[in-house]
Amino acid sequence: MTDIQVLTMSGSNVTLSAENVSNFASTLRGGLTLPGDDHYDEQREIWNAMIDRKPGMIVRCQGAADVTHAVQFAREHDLLVTVRGAGHNIAGSSIAEGGMLIDLSPMKSVYVDPSACIARVEPGVTLGDLDAETQLHGLATPVGINTTTGIAGLTLGGGFGWLSRKHGLTADNLLSADVVTADGTRLRASADENPDLFWGLRGGGGNFGIVTSFEFMLHPVGPEVMSGVIVHPFKDAPALLRSYREFAAQAPDELTVWVVLRKAPPLPFLSEDVHGTDVLIFACLYAGDMAEGEKALQPLRELGTPHADMISPHPYCGFQGAFDPLLTPGRRNYWKSHDFTELHDELLDVLTSAVPELPSPETEIFIAHMGGFTSRVPADATAYRHRDAQFIMNVHGRWEHAADDERGIGWCRDLFDAATPYATGGVYVNFMTEEEGGRVAEAYGASYDRLVQLKNTYDPDNVFRFNQNIAPSGGTA
Ligand SMILES: Cc1cc2nc3c(=O)[nH]c(=O)nc-3n(C[C@H](O)[C@H](O)[C@H](O)COP(=O)(O)OP(=O)(O)OC[C@H]3O[C@@H](n4cnc5c(N)ncnc54)[C@H](O)[C@@H]3O)c2cc1C
Repeated sequence: MTDIQVLTMSGSNVTLSAENVSNFASTLRGGLTLPGDDHYDEQREIWNAMIDRKPGMIVRCQGAADVTHAVQFAREHDLLVTVRGAGHNIAGSSIAEGGMLIDLSPMKSVYVDPSACIARVEPGVTLGDLDAETQLHGLATPVGINTTTGIAGLTLGGGFGWLSRKHGLTADNLLSADVVTADGTRLRASADENPDLFWGLRGGGGNFGIVTSFEFMLHPVGPEVMSGVIVHPFKDAPALLRSYREFAAQAPDELTVWVVLRKAPPLPFLSEDVHGTDVLIFACLYAGDMAEGEKALQPLRELGTPHADMISPHPYCGFQGAFDPLLTPGRRNYWKSHDFTELHDELLDVLTSAVPELPSPETEIFIAHMGGFTSRVPADATAYRHRDAQFIMNVHGRWEHAADDERGIGWCRDLFDAATPYATGGVYVNFMTEEEGGRVAEAYGASYDRLVQLKNTYDPDNVFRFNQNIAPSGGTA
């Protein structure tokens, strides 16, 4: 081992002697990976290939003790710290050029207590890992729609997916969290212990400490659920979107229908002449009785003349992975997101006029169906603020080559700007890109000042700053 340079919070590099680094490494159950080591390049990869950074050191944590040692070592040397769950964050906030990457991805244990309907989950767990363990008992908690996403970042920002209209955000199902704070203290946060911190963890992102264990409430789900996609020719989109609006407004909490506008992928159930053409996809899941689900979905299935209707009973875990092939790691991704309380006619016109100009075969407009349970939680009950959102649009710009960045990013921004007059002004923090730090106040609305106070209490020096940052008052970003 030789001396190494690591970036500090003040922006300069510090030289750490080989002996110092080796002593630190010996405290870890996991391990330390340094530039030039085997696996360094593999371990610094994140989901969004647009972000390619080389951290000064990667601490591969195996437990809370490793996390605590990493935070203490970082504090001793004033190192810039980043925290990674599964590395899905679009802004690449889990990795900084030259900094200390605290990598939680090796912490993958899930313990399910089926009689109490709870799961204890380590922060390196992906949504697919969690569903696999909970579904063994016919249980689940609401999570996102892509199995390789990390439970940690998802929960701390809010988290929603097919079960959220029925059972709430992922954060609404959090019962407690074990946290290592900026001074290396270990705390439990729950409704009874450190309730202020518990409030902030449910939406406030990674601003207040490093969660080493999450405890979730579980619900009976599946193992089969009425679910699937209906794929329509895009020419019918204007009428279909207006019918969808009426349908979604009447939908029971059990039923969730998202809209996806994109070019048809080469799916085996679509005829070849449809591949690559513009389509509108309804993606549906009914979290309840199968026959009731069939009945609830019937009016949607009667709309238009679809290319394909794949609604039928599917294993819950299978449907959770349905979009995985469209969201694989390794592509360049750029997102823009808005919250909506209504889908105005003019907004629908904006969306449909953007689709013929899609900048790449993989770019898509996702409209998530919210409301239900998520909207009945009071806006100040958790740090996730935007309970009024009935729909969340995420424009997924996605392509292979850097040469396509300018055109693709331009298209996403133009669509975002055109949709702005119809949006609430709120935004889901987990969909914000790196450049959107200026929207953090929008993400937290009236809760922002309370979050600053919490930051003052738990992280006054802004150790956890490399994120959608809530800066302490008088602190530095
Ligand atoms: C393909 C794809 C699909 C998605 N679908 C959905 C969806 O359906 N619903 C939804 O709600 N979101 C969705 N998201 C967004 C997702 O919630 C965020 O990307 C989230 O940040 C992912 O968490 P992660 O642990 O993988 O991220 P990471 O990049 O590892 O971490 C993100 C940030 O979270 C913080 N963090 C991570 N772990 C910890 C910890 N243990 N303690 C403290 N802070 C921590 C850090 O600040 C870190 O920078 C999707 C993302 C992708 C890429």
